[in-house]
Amino acid sequence: VNSPSSPGPDFAPLLARLAKIVGPQNVLTDPHETEPYANDWRGIYFGKTPAVVRPANTEEVAAVVKLCAETRTPLVPQGGNTGMCMASVPRASGGEIVLALGRMSRILNVDALNNTMTVEAGCVLANIQQAAADADRLFPLSLGAEGSCQIGGNLSTNAGGVNVLRYGNTRDLVLGLEVVLPDGRVWNGLRSLRKDNTGYDLKHLFVGAEGTLGIITAAVLKLFPRPQSNVTAWMAVPDPEAALALLALLRRHVGDRISAFELISRNCLEMVIRHILGTRDPLPVPHQWYVLTELADASPGGGLRAQLEPALEEAIEAKLVIDAAIAENQAQSQALWRIRESIPEAARSEPGMLYRHDISVAVSRIPAFIREARAALEKQYPGANVICFGHLGDGNLHYNAFIPGRSRSEAAAREAHDVTDLVYDIVQRYDGSFSAEHGVGLAKVEELRRYKSAVELDLMRTLKRSLDPGGILNPGKVL
Ligand code: FAD
Ligand code: ZN
Repeated sequence: VNSPSSPGPDFAPLLARLAKIVGPQNVLTDPHETEPYANDWRGIYFGKTPAVVRPANTEEVAAVVKLCAETRTPLVPQGGNTGMCMASVPRASGGEIVLALGRMSRILNVDALNNTMTVEAGCVLANIQQAAADADRLFPLSLGAEGSCQIGGNLSTNAGGVNVLRYGNTRDLVLGLEVVLPDGRVWNGLRSLRKDNTGYDLKHLFVGAEGTLGIITAAVLKLFPRPQSNVTAWMAVPDPEAALALLALLRRHVGDRISAFELISRNCLEMVIRHILGTRDPLPVPHQWYVLTELADASPGGGLRAQLEPALEEAIEAKLVIDAAIAENQAQSQALWRIRESIPEAARSEPGMLYRHDISVAVSRIPAFIREARAALEKQYPGANVICFGHLGDGNLHYNAFIPGRSRSEAAAREAHDVTDLVYDIVQRYDGSFSAEHGVGLAKVEELRRYKSAVELDLMRTLKRSLDPGGILNPGKVL
């Protein structure tokens, strides 16, 4: 406890009062215990905190926030700490308390006839999916971090994932919220209504707000019919134009049964095969581009495969697809998805510097964007590789520039800036977004200032000031 990074004596009275609210065992101050909450999971940002507070219910959250408002102590709400933009960790200045929601993990109610579920904010996403399945329903939000991210974090980042094409982002999956406001008042908006036009739809203020406007403590989520059959297909396509035409063709054949449509460049597959044990090329010869698609049908009987096969034949005839592998069973389907989901991990194992961009443009403009951005990058950085994969059906690409052989220390912050500006400037010309699903956090505050209009920035600041005049919630993030 006497290690140099322990909270200083200034914090002692506050910590004692926090301990009265949540119990001393739920105020962590030992640096060994607080470290996992203070650091970004990728090891690229190391924050510092005097304490991690772990409330058990909404009343405790409200009491903690009230105390922090009164003492002007900044708070950083945290779910699973799996976010991509350093929004969930305290800054290195060391004065921000982490409010970890993980103990609030109860499923409060499942209403199968209303197709809704009410959950506490600290529920792990995978547990919500399971509870939905137990009621013979689907909660469609699905992403690589689902075993550890929490619904409060998903809501606060408006997480996307692989089913957005059919079911929308997290924003589209929520009917009601309970939120503790920055002054400690509780807003109970836990309504489970599909129609409710009674003034401003306040819940949407807090969705995607990255913990800067309030603490989400509970949510009413939408449930859907559970798919009875699935088909997963891995298809080689000549180029992104063909992939786009293939999406239109598939839709003509199977309608809205397409739940995922992911584009993957050849070098992503090669990286995965190099670094991820047990993976292999699903097709006998290499191709430049692939599409991984998932069809799902909630009606009994399925017959999905029978719909997919003629669609594929037509696509092959039209030269939109060169070759394809359809999963024969669950294990094969999982193996195909494992390739897609391992790309980020494989990229981290490559020797070189990876500059990540989570961008979106209108789906129809994706092929032109890919071509133009690649040409610009290759011209500016000879030898650069573009590692491109993502949610083509949503117009959202993880468009990463890889400079081989460059070490992290050599890679001047300047280069990161230049690469990123180059890519985002093109995105801007395409009327796209510099952060399609990961948010702003600490990582993209500068971009927000660079690319948002003065009017939009002013509106955002007005909202922040009116809800959180003391600036205690997640300071320095987003704005
Ligand atoms: P945290 O990281 O803890 O927090 C994220 C933000 O929400 C922070 O600003 C935090 O302050 C705030 N917050 C957390 N809980 C609350 C609350 N109760 N009230 C108010 N604010 C709160 N993201 C995608 O969108 N799509 C993907 O496909 C995807 N894939 C991923 C794959 C992997 C392997 C990993 C590690 C991450 C992936 N992510 C993806 C990013 C991440 O998982 C999501 O952003 C997720 O929604 C974050 O949830 P969390 O509980 O970890 O939130
Ligand atoms: Zn993604």
